[in-house]
Amino acid sequence: MNLNLLEECREAKRIGIAGHVRPDGDCLGACLGLWQYLVKCLPAAETKVFLEKPADIFKDIKGFGEIDSDFPEEPAFDVFFVLDTSTDRLGGAEKYFRAAGKTINIDHHVSNPGGGQINVIRPEMGSTCELIFDLMDEGQLDKDMAMALYVGIIHDTGVFQYSNTSPETLEKGAKLIAFGFDFPNLILETFYQKTYIQAQVMGRALMESIRFLGGSCIVSAIDKKTMEFYNVGPKDLDGIVNQLRNIEGIDCAIFMYETGTMEYKVSMRSSEKVDVAEVAAYFGGGGHTKAAGCNMTGTFHDCVNNLSLHIEKALKKWEAEHDERDNSH
Ligand code: AMP
Ligand code: MN
Ligand code: MN
Repeated sequence: MNLNLLEECREAKRIGIAGHVRPDGDCLGACLGLWQYLVKCLPAAETKVFLEKPADIFKDIKGFGEIDSDFPEEPAFDVFFVLDTSTDRLGGAEKYFRAAGKTINIDHHVSNPGGGQINVIRPEMGSTCELIFDLMDEGQLDKDMAMALYVGIIHDTGVFQYSNTSPETLEKGAKLIAFGFDFPNLILETFYQKTYIQAQVMGRALMESIRFLGGSCIVSAIDKKTMEFYNVGPKDLDGIVNQLRNIEGIDCAIFMYETGTMEYKVSMRSSEKVDVAEVAAYFGGGGHTKAAGCNMTGTFHDCVNNLSLHIEKALKKWEAEHDERDNSH
């Protein structure tokens, strides 16, 4: 890995860090891990993190209280980091990116074309936190940094379960837990634990789910009225799409929630048979081959029909390729 984070920031007086809108564990862990690292290694510089307000479950990560979610006017940053996203999903932090002297985009999304002056885009990495780990001087790591990076790794790998987990991911995980933070609780509280209301909404989404394409796909949606009834926001819906994907026989799971009139945020999870990053890209979204998302307009049925066309094509392609392979043996 040839980018030297500290060298790139050596002359900088003001450094900014941002990630994507609706920050997840990886985005947050990467931003706070890098923030801690730069504050520790370059104490003379002023380093700030800008993110939409993250979920409170992450409050124990060092630097959580330093996050600026108001996006005030700021003098231009000398160096500005964009983590875990392409440069078009920065929300309120986009203005800092545009004004910055030097921009550095560090990400692991296949769909990221690299919008910084310097780009480190590594789709083979399971998480941005894993990539940040590689870019850091290991000798500078401490317990708090380790905890931040560990959160990102477990979130994007489903606690080392998804196929984006490599032997190197586990080696890095081993080095991180050696710092001695309370990882069982961290995993429970940031990944598995749900409030009672969140569990109820998930239950409702599972109950109202519909299978299609011969039972190989499943979709469920939560409308605005239901979100208001339970008094839940988007952060409370995390995990529902994974639960749908965990159902036996499902190759593609879709979960959507209403963001406005005839507007939906769509999340997709798949087996190896469907490249959902490709499906999401048709609708202006992106992500990874097995986890992707997009925003769509139309009725629930319009959205499902449109997605279904692309998913069906992907499934047929996969089956044709596999028939061919079976016949050739
Ligand atoms: P989600 O379903 O929101 O958990 O997102 C799954 C993956 O797809 C994440 O890596 C997201 O960064 C990516 N993703 C979700 N929504 C979008 C979008 N509208 N545009 C680009 N990437 C997205
Ligand atoms: Mn993310
Ligand atoms: Mn990520």
